[in-house]
Amino acid sequence: MGVWLLKPGELTLKGGNRSNFEKILRANINTMLRATVTGARLRMGSGRFYISLEIPEHEMEQYEARAAALEEVLSHVMGISGWAKTQSCEKNPQTVTAACVNEARMLFERGVRSFKAEARRTDKSFPLTSYEICCAAGDAVTRAFPSLLVRIKNPQAVIRVEIREKAYVYSLSQKGWGGLPVGSAGRGLLLLSGGIDSPVAGCLMAGRGMHVDAVYFHTPPYTSDRALEKTIHLAGLVGRYAMGVRLWTVNFTGAQRRIKERAPPEWSTVLLRMAMMAAASVIARKSHIKCLVTGESLSQVASQTIENISCTESRARLPVLRPLIGMDKEQITLLAKKFGTYETSILPYADCCVLFSPEHPVLRGAVKEAALRYEALELDPLIEEALSRAAVQKCGYYE
Ligand code: ATP
Ligand code: MG
Repeated sequence: MGVWLLKPGELTLKGGNRSNFEKILRANINTMLRATVTGARLRMGSGRFYISLEIPEHEMEQYEARAAALEEVLSHVMGISGWAKTQSCEKNPQTVTAACVNEARMLFERGVRSFKAEARRTDKSFPLTSYEICCAAGDAVTRAFPSLLVRIKNPQAVIRVEIREKAYVYSLSQKGWGGLPVGSAGRGLLLLSGGIDSPVAGCLMAGRGMHVDAVYFHTPPYTSDRALEKTIHLAGLVGRYAMGVRLWTVNFTGAQRRIKERAPPEWSTVLLRMAMMAAASVIARKSHIKCLVTGESLSQVASQTIENISCTESRARLPVLRPLIGMDKEQITLLAKKFGTYETSILPYADCCVLFSPEHPVLRGAVKEAALRYEALELDPLIEEALSRAAVQKCGYYE
């Protein structure tokens, strides 16, 4: 039966702290598996993680479905650089070469016609050296499939053998997200809109080990319930990577109206962003969250010039992380597709900012002028009131 072999990501760089990171990674994977895959068991040994599926004989018809659920979990784990479904077998040369032939059969059936073997031994008591394991595997495979050729340079596939506390043989491996396990880097509050960018920013911070919570500012009746539902859904998608997201929903209609009434239209977007920073800072501080996270990318839109970002940031009372700041829309879109948030993000329900956006926004707001205009709005009581009515919900948790 298959065993999934997981390679930890950057943990290997962590020196003395490594075991702590491993502990977090292990706890995360266990939580994810417990919630989604019956019979999955996680083990650790010599720097690797192993997952096996323990399924009673009478439930064997569920094997494929559970294996698929397990792989779905693995595709959401932050902190592993890759994983592979392996055949695990006894540590003797005959069973290992037989497993290589099995692996070759699967490759052959997929149309592969050239391969090489690579072996690694952490158990030096195994009677063959790594080189001898490769030779034995090469011989056995070419005998069984004469048209499957050994090619050392540019083979179509590599059959890998690892001799550890058991022997593992595999050829197809998947890339993981790498990075660090969620929970190793504190907690951030993501300003989550219904757009393409901010969900990606949240996933990226999860991949740096951060627990991500989120806040969404909506403006009913100018924004619809559909827009809210879409954002809740996005928070859930980010939560699958981030081990769950708490989402604050804040009704910003009062603040938005005040800005419309009292500020020149060209300033409205920057002032609204300033108000969002101020409100998000209050939530974060109350909940012991250490930073804010946005989906801003330098100069992508008028409100994201360095001058306007300076205005916005002047109202933040915590560090603001902008993981997308140096990326262009194409790179961000590609990531949104990989993380699986894109399809939801492009649903056509406008968030508040679109409806109130001015035709000619200021491009280079001065921080001093922004501060004067912001103070004149007397937004604090409105923000306080909005926050007192904010709703919180859990999205994308594994439970
Ligand atoms: P996104 O694709 O994330 O919506 P965007 O390219 O549309 O970003 P803006 O609308 O200028 O850019 O928003 C910049 C950032 O401000 C967003 O990435 C998000 O972090 C935050 N933001 C914007 N609107 C909201 C909102 N309604 N609620 C919470 N945060 C928001
Ligand atoms: Mg937006």
